[in-house]
Amino acid sequence: MDFRLTDEQELFVAGIRKLMAKENWESYFKECDENSEYPERFVKELADLGIDSLLLPEEHGGFNAGAVTVAAAWEELGRLGAPTYVLYQLTGFNTILKYGTEEQIQKIMALHGTGKQMWNSAITEPGAGSDVGSLQTTYTRKDGKVYLNGHKTFITSSAGVPYLIVMSKDAETGTKFTEWFVDMDKPGIKREKLKKLGLKMDSVCEVYFENVELEEKDMFGTEGNGFDRIKEEFDFERFLVGCCNYGTALCAFEDAAKYANQREQFGEKIGRFQLIQEKFCNMAIKLTNMRNMLYETAWKYDNGQKITGNAAMCKYYCANAGFEVVDDAMQVFAGIGVAGDHRISRFWRDLRVDRVSGGSDEMQILTAGREVLKKYR
Ligand SMILES: Cc1cc2nc3c(=O)[nH]c(=O)nc-3n(C[C@H](O)[C@H](O)[C@H](O)COP(=O)(O)OP(=O)(O)OC[C@H]3O[C@@H](n4cnc5c(N)ncnc54)[C@H](O)[C@@H]3O)c2cc1C
Repeated sequence: MDFRLTDEQELFVAGIRKLMAKENWESYFKECDENSEYPERFVKELADLGIDSLLLPEEHGGFNAGAVTVAAAWEELGRLGAPTYVLYQLTGFNTILKYGTEEQIQKIMALHGTGKQMWNSAITEPGAGSDVGSLQTTYTRKDGKVYLNGHKTFITSSAGVPYLIVMSKDAETGTKFTEWFVDMDKPGIKREKLKKLGLKMDSVCEVYFENVELEEKDMFGTEGNGFDRIKEEFDFERFLVGCCNYGTALCAFEDAAKYANQREQFGEKIGRFQLIQEKFCNMAIKLTNMRNMLYETAWKYDNGQKITGNAAMCKYYCANAGFEVVDDAMQVFAGIGVAGDHRISRFWRDLRVDRVSGGSDEMQILTAGREVLKKYR
C-alpha cells in the first residue's frame, strides 16, 4: 500500500495548514474548552474550506474524496492542536443522504457549510450502555400518529443539535428496533446537560421523551432496521475516533519534543537524558503504528472492503496508545504539564474519555476478536 498523498490531497492539507496559521486558535480553543462551548466559528472556517464536503458525492456538491483524505485532514488538524472530535458529525451528511427521506435530507442539507451542529444518534440509555439491545425507549402508534417515550443518556452534541435520530422499539411487540428523526423543538422533550472530564467543546445530555408526537414520515430508514443502520455508522465513527486520537497524540509529541530540546536541568537539555529519550522512542513507535493502522483501514474502506474489525482495532489501539503518548508527553512537561496552562492537560482529559465514548475498550476488543477469528472458521 502506498500512503503518499495525491496532489489534490496535499493541496487540501496545505489549506488546513494555512487556516491553522491564520490566527492563534489555541486561545479560542482554550476559551471554548473552559466554557464548554462548541467552537462554531472554527468549524465554519473549516466548512468554508470544504471539510464537510469531503465525503459527499459530487452530485451534492461534494468531493467524494474518501477516507484516506479524511485521515490526512484529521492528522494535520490534530497535529496543529485542533479539537477534531467536534467534527464527528460532518460525516453525517452522507448517512442522511443514504437513509433519509427527501424532507429529512432537505432539513439537514440546509445546515451544510454553516459550521452549525446538525444531528446525532441517540441510542444509549441508563440501563442500556454496551448492551444496546436492552433499550427501553418505545414508539406507540395511536390514531394515525406515533408517540415516543423514553430516556436517553450521554448523547453527544444533544445540547446544540436541532435533530436527534432516536433508537426505539415497538411498544406492542418489544422488538423491531426502529429509528425516528426527531425535531428537538417538539413538545415533550427535555434535555439536561452533563459535566464531563474531557471533550468539553461538545455537549452530552440526558434526553427525556414524554409522549413526543411524531408521524410515520418521521421514521428514519425502515422499520426494524435500526441496528443494521447504526452498525454501519459505528465502523466509520470508530475509525474517525482513531484519527482524532492519533492527531492529538502527534501534537502532544511534537510539543514535548520541542520542549525537551530547550528545557535545561543539571546543566543539560533534558532531551539528552536517556530516560527522556526512551519516552520519545516509545512515543514514536506508537505514533507510527497508529498512523499505519489508520491509513490501512482508510485504504480498505476506500477500496470497498469491510472495515468492522479494523475500525474496532483502530478505536481500541489509538485511544490507548494515543493516551499513553499524551501521558508520556505530559511527563516530559512535568510541572507545567499538570499545573500549568499548557494544552497537554486538555489533550489528556480528552483522550481518556475516548476509551469509553463511542463504545468502550472492552467492546472494541470483543468486536475485533470476533472479526479476527471469523477468517479462520
Ligand atoms: C462522552 C460520551 C459521549 C457519548 N456519546 C454518545 C452518543 O452520542 N450517543 C449514544 O447513543 N451514546 C453515547 N455515549 C454512550 C457510550 O456509547 C456508552 O457510555 C458506552 O457504550 C458504555 O456504556 P456504559 O457507560 O453504560 O457502560 P456499561 O455498558 O455499563 O459498561 C461498564 C463496564 O463494563 C464493561 N462491559 C460491559 N459489557 C461487557 C462485556 N460483555 N464484556 C466485557 N466488558 C463489558 C464496559 O466495557 C465497561 O468497562 C457516550 C458516552 C460518553 C462517555
